[in-house]
Amino acid sequence: MAKRGKVLINRDLCKGCLLCIRSCPARVLEQDTEPNKTGSYPSKATEENIKKCIACGNCFEVCPDICIEVYEQEEGEAV
Ligand code: SF4
Ligand code: SF4
Repeated sequence: MAKRGKVLINRDLCKGCLLCIRSCPARVLEQDTEPNKTGSYPSKATEENIKKCIACGNCFEVCPDICIEVYEQEEGEAV
């Protein structure tokens, strides 16, 4: 069964370094146009591509501030 992922980003911890966005092979992530409470523009999963996450873990690995959690899901499971 194909691996699918669910990615969660803590937007108020995120400093907007964009490393996760660059590391994502499925283009799931983009920079938010709204700042967080520290004034940074955080990463977020796009509405359009959130279901394309393959749970590779790249974004989790590169984030210097541990803002990202990635969960594996089976195909068909609710995102
Ligand atoms: S787990 Fe992989 S595919 Fe999913 S958002 Fe992170 S880098 Fe992209
Ligand atoms: S790598 Fe972490 S700190 Fe950098 S933009 Fe992504 S979530 Fe934010």
